[in-house]
Amino acid sequence: MSFPAAGSSGIRVRFAPSPTGMFHVGGARSALFNWALAKRQGGIFVLRIEDTDAARNKPEWTQGILDALAALGMHGDDPTFEGPYYQSDNAGQHGEAGLKLLAAGKAYYCDCTRDDVVARTGSQHLGYDGHCRDRGLDYQPGRALRFRTPDEGETAVVDLIRGNPTFPNSAMEDFVIARGDGSPVFLIANVVDDMDERITHVIRGEEHLPNAPKQQLLWEALGATPPTWAHLPVIVNEKRQKLSKRRDKVALEDYLADGILPDAMVNYLMLLGWAPGNDEEILPFDELVSRFDIADVNSASAFFDIKKLMSFNGEYIRALPVDVFEADVLAWLAGPGRVEDEETGLAPVPWADADFDAAAFHEVAPLLQTRVAAFKEVPANIDFLFLDQPVDDQASWVKAMKEPAAELLADVRQAFAVVGAEGQQEWDADTLKQIVLEVGERYGLKLGKSQAPVRVATTGRTIGLPLFESLVVLGRDKTLARIDRALTKFDI
Ligand code: GLU
Ligand code: ZN
Repeated sequence: MSFPAAGSSGIRVRFAPSPTGMFHVGGARSALFNWALAKRQGGIFVLRIEDTDAARNKPEWTQGILDALAALGMHGDDPTFEGPYYQSDNAGQHGEAGLKLLAAGKAYYCDCTRDDVVARTGSQHLGYDGHCRDRGLDYQPGRALRFRTPDEGETAVVDLIRGNPTFPNSAMEDFVIARGDGSPVFLIANVVDDMDERITHVIRGEEHLPNAPKQQLLWEALGATPPTWAHLPVIVNEKRQKLSKRRDKVALEDYLADGILPDAMVNYLMLLGWAPGNDEEILPFDELVSRFDIADVNSASAFFDIKKLMSFNGEYIRALPVDVFEADVLAWLAGPGRVEDEETGLAPVPWADADFDAAAFHEVAPLLQTRVAAFKEVPANIDFLFLDQPVDDQASWVKAMKEPAAELLADVRQAFAVVGAEGQQEWDADTLKQIVLEVGERYGLKLGKSQAPVRVATTGRTIGLPLFESLVVLGRDKTLARIDRALTKFDI
């Protein structure tokens, strides 16, 4: 699929995250919508790191943003990508913009404390009353610079998603643009940077919608044509609460560490507030881009459905060539699979390095590929191959080892013991299945029931990879030894 050349349309969008924490899936969605619009329209995507909050910023958060965006395909090797720029590098321009507004009579200094304002208005909520508007105060440390908002009329913002909301100017207080120490606030720094970077479309989260009229007034007061706006719907959890880092799993990095494939993540995030149509959901990014129109984004909140994400990811995993799947899983096992879970203190990979058998893994990889929805599910499906003994999962034992499990296991053991010997059947999946089927029938059990005790005895769990193929890889000796060990547990 081919799109107009980067930059050919003059459209310039930006993603402007503040590096104050782990990179949020909501931020990733905003970035992707900007990216998709830029790609579709032949625009430029600017990355600007809004790093002016020195107390809350950390270099590692910035690096986390760059890495996460790159993982999702947004990086400087692509001609659509420009930056990163750093807001802190533009501090001089922010200060000058304030002085320009002051000189034009569009801003003024104010020495009121909050208590002064509350005492005058008699309310905590009414906001600033314009007391210093015509006092002609000079700058002195401690005096804030306020923007003079119009008293009448209304400010209409062109929002491609929200149908041009209007805001009465009388409800907009003379807001602060520079604090008492001279430092510019977000509202103006953000506008000045957007102006300097020649941004034509501001696409960002809904929480910024109340800032849009104030920022539009600043654009106009600084003599520039305001951008077109688009405020993306909030993302909510299954209880319809706004996703929050205290309550929900929101760090993109955590999803990637779980073994969600970047392509699946991109596809899923693109559907948070937008649909490609034709009842299709799982589509390559280029196809999503070719159908993308910011005006089709829905303003209703978007549900971040982790189950759906997992099911998408399962589909992406199954679509991988098996050798790519195998290599990806091996990389995951060697990387994120080693990292201890902060809560449990346990790494997902429970076996010792030396006990990992690459040949056995290669045998089961195709089976594994049909089963897992994310790489974090891999260890529990294959640990029986690399641990000395299968895990001791009490719930599985109780469920599978009901009467006549002991007798059935003893019979299966006896029949298994001769398989693979001279002149006997091969130790292969069909033979093993046939044996368990026949033994089960003696007890009036269907295969689904009769294989459960064998599965729990050999793998430790009631669910896992196809059993008979697993036993072929595990080998006869270990299979027999594990059944023997299980049988001893019934004697107690
Ligand atoms: N730094 C702001 C944020 O992360 C940017 C808002 C905007 O996109 O204008 O919320
Ligand atoms: Zn004042």
